[in-house]
Amino acid sequence: MITAIRNAWIVTQDASRRIIKGDVVIDGEKIVSVGPEYNGTADREIDATGDIVMPGMINTHTHVAMSVMKGVVDDLTFPDFLDKVFKIDSDRTDKDLDIGTKIGCMEMIRSGTTTFMDLYYSEDVIAKATQQAGIRGVLCWCCLDEDKTTQKGNPVQNCKNFHSKFKGERKIVPGVGLQGVYVCNEETCVQAKEFSDEVGAPMNLHLSETRGEVADHKKQTGMRPGEWLSEIGVFGPRVVAAHSAWLTKREVMLMGKSGMSISSCPVSNMKLATGGVAPIPEFIEAGVIVSFGTDGNTTNNTLDMFAEMKSLALLQKSSRWDPLVCKAQQVLDFATINGAKAVGMQDKIGSIEPGKYADLIILDGKAPNMRPLLPENMIANIVYSGNGLNTKTVFCQGDMVMQDGNILTLDKDAILDRSEDIWKTLCLR
Ligand SMILES: [Zn+2]
Repeated sequence: MITAIRNAWIVTQDASRRIIKGDVVIDGEKIVSVGPEYNGTADREIDATGDIVMPGMINTHTHVAMSVMKGVVDDLTFPDFLDKVFKIDSDRTDKDLDIGTKIGCMEMIRSGTTTFMDLYYSEDVIAKATQQAGIRGVLCWCCLDEDKTTQKGNPVQNCKNFHSKFKGERKIVPGVGLQGVYVCNEETCVQAKEFSDEVGAPMNLHLSETRGEVADHKKQTGMRPGEWLSEIGVFGPRVVAAHSAWLTKREVMLMGKSGMSISSCPVSNMKLATGGVAPIPEFIEAGVIVSFGTDGNTTNNTLDMFAEMKSLALLQKSSRWDPLVCKAQQVLDFATINGAKAVGMQDKIGSIEPGKYADLIILDGKAPNMRPLLPENMIANIVYSGNGLNTKTVFCQGDMVMQDGNILTLDKDAILDRSEDIWKTLCLR
C-alpha cells in the first residue's frame, strides 16, 4: 500500500531540523520519500496543501488506563491523592482497564501522539487495548515490593511473564517499571534492573517527584534517591526517570554519566503543587536525554502533548526568570526525536526520514490559531499556538489510525458511552 501526502509543509525533525515543502510517501510501514514531488502512482492520495506534516508525538510517561478516572482526585495533597488512587486501583476490573486504556488512546490519537510509555500493572490488558487502538505502547509493568501492592503474586515475576508474552508483538514494546524508592527496596530495584539488562527492555520509574520522598529516603539510607539508585546500579541508557524534579547537581551529573533519560511532567507537578521543577538546562549540560510526558489523567488531566509542550516551556522560563531556556525548537525536539531516544527507538521513529516508520501526523494549517504560518514561525506556532485538536490525520507504523478527525480503529461512541458508568462505580464510593 502506497500513500502519497502531497504539497505539505514537512517539519522533518531530521539532523538539520529542515522544514521542506513537498510530498511524503509511505510504502507499507515505512517512509520512502520526503520532499520531492512524487510522480508514481499511489493507492491513497492525501492533499495536504497548507497543512503541516510532522513526527507523531512521543509521550514518555503516562498511566493510560487512568483515563477513566478524570476529575476524581483533584485538589488534594499528594499523600491523600495517592491514598485515594491506590484504593480505586485495587477495585478495578480488566474491563475497566480496557475501557480506560481505549479512552486514553483515543485522546492521544486525537491530539497527535503515536507512541506512549506507560507505567502500570495489568499491562497485558493495556497492551491488547493499545493494539486495537493502533498506536505504539512502550508498556512498563510496575514492579514494587510484594508486601506493598495489590498485584497478585510477585510484581517482578509478573513483569517477566508480561515481557515473555508480548515480546515481538507489533507496536508493543514490553518494558520494566519501578513505582519509586518509597515502595521499592534494594532487592526489588536490582531484580527489575537485572531483568531489563538481560532482555534489553526499556525502564520507566518515578524519581524525586516530591521533597518528602527525598527526605524520607535520605533518613532511611543516608542517600538521596538519585545517589542511591546510581549506587545500586539502576541507572543506565535504557532508563527513563519521570518527574526528576527534586535533584542536586551531583545527582544530575550521575544521571548524565549513566546515559539515561528523564521524562519531565510539568503539569502534574504544578497541579499536585509538589514544588520541584525539573532542572532541564542542567540535564542537557550533563548529557541526560530530556523528554517529557503528561503523567496520568488523574494528575493532568489531559494527555494532550501540545498542552504539555507549552506548559513545559513556560514553567522552565518562568521559574528561572529566563525566557531563553527551553526554546521552541528544543521543546519540539523533546517531544519527538528525544522521546524516540528515551524509548530506545531513535533509528525507527521521532523524525520524518526515509527508512523510518511512518509515525506522522498532519496538522490543520487552515486553523486560525496557526496563522499566519510560514517556515520562519512554524516551530513557534506548533509549540506556543497549537493544540492537540489541530491534528487532522494520524499514521502509526504506516497504518492510518485517524483521518480528518475521525478515529478509524475503535468504535468511539460505544467506548465513551461506557465511561460514566465505570466512573460512578469506581469513584462514587
Ligand atoms: Zn506517574
